[in-house]
Amino acid sequence: KEVVSCSGRQTYHDDMAKILYTEAVISQRVAELGRQIAQDYQGKAPLVLGVLKGSFMFFSDLVRAIEPCPRGLTLDFIRASSYGSGTESTGEVKLKADLKLEKVEGRHVLLVEDIVDTALTITTVSRYLLEECGAASVATATLLDKHERRKLVYRPEYVGFLCPNEFVVGYGLDFNEEYRTIPYIGVLKPECYSHLGIEAPEPDGSGESSD
Ligand code: 5GP
Ligand code: MG
Ligand code: MG
Repeated sequence: KEVVSCSGRQTYHDDMAKILYTEAVISQRVAELGRQIAQDYQGKAPLVLGVLKGSFMFFSDLVRAIEPCPRGLTLDFIRASSYGSGTESTGEVKLKADLKLEKVEGRHVLLVEDIVDTALTITTVSRYLLEECGAASVATATLLDKHERRKLVYRPEYVGFLCPNEFVVGYGLDFNEEYRTIPYIGVLKPECYSHLGIEAPEPDGSGESSD
């Protein structure tokens, strides 16, 4: 299969219209969040739960920054997919996890998300943990908070950056599964969407997306 970048450019970096958060800026903010979380969760043996896929890079940096690490801290992952047609999510969020109920019951859960946008995903996940799995508490650490686009009221406890209302990629965040490995966060050039015959996406992408 031939690999074509938008407009025939060589690398993902060439597809960026602008960089919003550099590697250095992200790394400094993640360190601050980690210290704060370490303080807040001492003595609570937290279960740190990454919401796949978008959070994988933030997750691995954040857990290393939780210093001093509270005793009893453990990790797991949950996968959330939103289904939609066109450029808007229907608001239906599907969860996949191999979390055993007893693993969550009574635990203080810290959800790790890449971005909270409409808040449909994080609301679904946190309700599931509280109502069906018996979590003692659920809090959210999100790298980005696109607060202007909320459909549900949700205020994450730990926010890396308040994000402008633009579709962003990099540092785990994808467009069409691409760009996840870029170590900074940026906005794509408009032609990166038009060469696929689509308009710049609304932040939930089109069709089924594994976030
Ligand atoms: P929600 O609207 O449910 O709060 O966000 C759902 C998911 O959509 C996020 O976890 C994230 O994976 C994806 N998403 C929202 N905004 C953006 C964005 O600007 N860029 C990318 N790549 N994904 C986004
Ligand atoms: Mg996605
Ligand atoms: Mg996500």
